[in-house]
Amino acid sequence: MTTSAPRVRFAPSPTGYLHVGGARTALLNWLYARHSSGKFLLRIEDTDKQRSTDEHTKVILDGLTWLGLDWDEQPVFQGARLSQHQAAADRLLAEGKAYLDEGTIRFRMPPGEIAWEDAVHGRISFKGEDLKDFIILRSDRTPIYNLAVVVDDVDMGITLVLRGDDHISNTPKQIALYRALGHEPPQFGHVPMINGPDGKKLSKRHGATAVGDYQHLGILPAAMRNFLALLGWSPGGDRQSKAAIFDTTKLEWMNGQYLSATSAEELYPLVQPQLERLGLNGNRDAVFKAIGAVKTRSRTTLDVARQVAVRLDPKFVEFDEKAKKEVAKDPLGYRAALEASVGVLRGADWSPEGLEKTLRALAEQRGVAAGKVFQPIRIALTGGTVSEPVNQLLYVIGKEAALKRLEAALPPI
Ligand code: GLU
Repeated sequence: MTTSAPRVRFAPSPTGYLHVGGARTALLNWLYARHSSGKFLLRIEDTDKQRSTDEHTKVILDGLTWLGLDWDEQPVFQGARLSQHQAAADRLLAEGKAYLDEGTIRFRMPPGEIAWEDAVHGRISFKGEDLKDFIILRSDRTPIYNLAVVVDDVDMGITLVLRGDDHISNTPKQIALYRALGHEPPQFGHVPMINGPDGKKLSKRHGATAVGDYQHLGILPAAMRNFLALLGWSPGGDRQSKAAIFDTTKLEWMNGQYLSATSAEELYPLVQPQLERLGLNGNRDAVFKAIGAVKTRSRTTLDVARQVAVRLDPKFVEFDEKAKKEVAKDPLGYRAALEASVGVLRGADWSPEGLEKTLRALAEQRGVAAGKVFQPIRIALTGGTVSEPVNQLLYVIGKEAALKRLEAALPPI
């Protein structure tokens, strides 16, 4: 048992973007650190000089920042610690725990059982005899991953290594290195990989795998965090030892919940740039109102922007299949309902209550269900069959614009 505050780390290799699997590992470490008043450290494992780039490092740090995963202390760059890695290898060599082999330094794997109590899987054990001696320093004196990680984790005072399942086979080698270097190994926990809905390892075939892509698709960081934290979790089970399923439909559903709960003011800065991209510079008030009206029926901020655009400018109205079908079922009825609505709306009190009253009175007068009046208006104004209540829709669009749009929507006889 260690009495000092826990220290965990996220150790990405900057050879690509921030993968959702990496983000989830980072999040679990961050949650652990914040929950236990410990430290969450970053180590950039940039020893592969050919594939590591500053641009990737930046994308990874930006992704973590977007997710709200703040780190403690300065990030450690593994590539800057070459002399520490070499010194450790030389020491093992000098002590006979490693040997020279064609210019490389190879670690002598000690026989006997190597076991640990994994924080996720429970006890895992390997036999030293089954593991071959392995290179720790190449002939150009650059370190191999297993050596660099152990030396760095020791120097950073890491108390728990929480990482992906794909590292389980490295752990016995690393434990052997800790012992050979005279250090107590930290605790280990290996989180299961993330699979797609078909049970296969998550890849681009399943959709976006980069955190940045979800940011651009209009997912809110809080929703992404919650989704990643719950991956592989099921009510009643406290261990996440089975592969987790990355289900984007669930992520979008969760995002929808966050959109509903987030105020129009807070969403505005996320929606506004997308409206600008669509060439829309609606006034702030109108945009606020429209965001408020559509956010509970949206899945992403892109979705919010699209629906806001439809309310601000009829050129963004596109009839979907369901709407087309409904109109085709009874084109004359559709036209008649719209015409009658335009007639009464002209004199309506343009408030949500006034509009509702006016339209209900019209339905009564025509002896039809209210939906027969509401639905044609909804279809004409949005091109879809689902929206906020029609009285709110009319209110958000505004009197002049709504009447103009409804008139223009009347199909020719
Ligand atoms: N750089 C390693 C990776 O990206 C992480 C190593 C570790 O967490 O120990 O897989």
